[in-house]
Amino acid sequence: MISPPRAWAEIDLAALDHNLEFAQAHSGLKAMAILKAGAYGHGLVALAKHLDTKGLPYFGVANVREARELADAQVKTPLYLLGPTFPEEREEVVLKGWTPCLSSHEDIGDFAELARKHEVVVSAHLALDTGMGRGGFLPTQLAEAVERVSLLPGIRLTGIGSHLPSADEDAEFTREQFVQFDRLMHEVGFDASPTPGDFYLHLSNSAGLLDYQSTTANLIRPGLLLYGVSPLPQWQKALHPVMTLKSRVAVVRRLPAGHGISYGRTSILAHDSRVATIGIGYGDGLPRAISGKKAHVLIGGCPAPLLGRVTMDQIMVDVTHLPGVATGDEVEVFGPNLPVSEVAEWADTIAWEILTRITPRVMRVLK
Ligand SMILES: *Cc1c(COP(=O)(O)O)cnc(C)c1O
Repeated sequence: MISPPRAWAEIDLAALDHNLEFAQAHSGLKAMAILKAGAYGHGLVALAKHLDTKGLPYFGVANVREARELADAQVKTPLYLLGPTFPEEREEVVLKGWTPCLSSHEDIGDFAELARKHEVVVSAHLALDTGMGRGGFLPTQLAEAVERVSLLPGIRLTGIGSHLPSADEDAEFTREQFVQFDRLMHEVGFDASPTPGDFYLHLSNSAGLLDYQSTTANLIRPGLLLYGVSPLPQWQKALHPVMTLKSRVAVVRRLPAGHGISYGRTSILAHDSRVATIGIGYGDGLPRAISGKKAHVLIGGCPAPLLGRVTMDQIMVDVTHLPGVATGDEVEVFGPNLPVSEVAEWADTIAWEILTRITPRVMRVLK
């Protein structure tokens, strides 16, 4: 008999559908599904295959390696490269028909040259830096870049995109970014939205699409929200978490008051206790940083507090108050009943990081 997994991630595709529909209905715009970093740890190819039938204008990936993985899996939705390309990657981008975002005049020149060499037309977006400071043309440089690209036969400009650095932190700055974006789109003559066609204007990530509205954008770029996690707590109720990280109770033991638990013996039992050992650790992506933080898991829906430090493959939790808990019981580490955002808070980080750091050892199980 094959032994059951110690730790696995259940991926709820109906929840993914719900979140995508919510994002598009709430904003009134089509979505570029952001699938970078293995679809935020959910499984790049599996989710792309599922979303491939939804008629989305693009899948957003971080780099050519991710694009290659999707192309090799025969994914049909056009692929958009969110990050800059290295010079030696650009020929493949041109030949495969992926859509790059152009961030500099060197980018533009290179792609134009490759298009000429291969006698193709490259469809590309311009990246516009309205405050992120990560890539793109500055607002003062946009008109010139648009003009240059429009004169090059090898490049067909099919969109302009910007990004929001603090849509979940700074409303005033974000509002100004939207105003600036819309003003610039009018200035360069791309204000024909909201009819999505073959020209796309976009700046909203998850937080942006929840709380802000552009008068020119006709595309949203949701990532975290697609996976059922809201960057803004007030919208969490509207979403369905896609990933449930699960494990099992390996053994339950009675230990006397005064006994130490885990490395460093940072936890010493105050009372005689029942302690369950669970088959998940930082080697699976459960952050060691939740050690000592009043963290818990759910067993049969009931909180079982973490005892001592997270080890590579196992954690110990207190089940003194849960007399029914036994070997083999399922454990929810995060999911619909225990938000990943709460685990992120214990670890002093963000939900994005927890999700993308779930390791390959954790089997992804589609539901
Ligand atoms: C990652 C990313 C997104 C998605 O961000 P979320 O906050 O996860 O919705 C959107 N746009 C760009 C350019 C990104 O890099």
